[in-house]
Amino acid sequence: MAYVIAEPCIDRSDQSCVAVCPVDCISSDPSSDRKFYIDPDGCIDCGSCETACPNQAIFRADQLPPEWAEFAWIDATWYRDPDAARDAVDGAASAA
Ligand code: SF4
Ligand code: SF4
Repeated sequence: MAYVIAEPCIDRSDQSCVAVCPVDCISSDPSSDRKFYIDPDGCIDCGSCETACPNQAIFRADQLPPEWAEFAWIDATWYRDPDAARDAVDGAASAA
């Protein structure tokens, strides 16, 4: 289990979540990304980021709203194939 950053983060990357994560497992490349991504292999499920996010973008993976289910894949994929994750983010943004 891990936490996941969903669609409300897109183009609203204020980084409140990054500041509170105790294991530094929330990342992004500001030159290329439109959102932040949680590393599911690093997340310790503390929930601090969910509380800190002003845009209600973060959910436990098993509590993701169904319309944002793909963001579990997107966050995990960014850590091994960032371009694939970025393409999916663009698709999700244009569908919103
Ligand atoms: S739940 Fe905790 S460990 Fe996981 S990304 Fe959020 S702040 Fe970091
Ligand atoms: S606090 Fe929320 S909106 Fe801001 S970067 Fe983190 S997940 Fe995105």
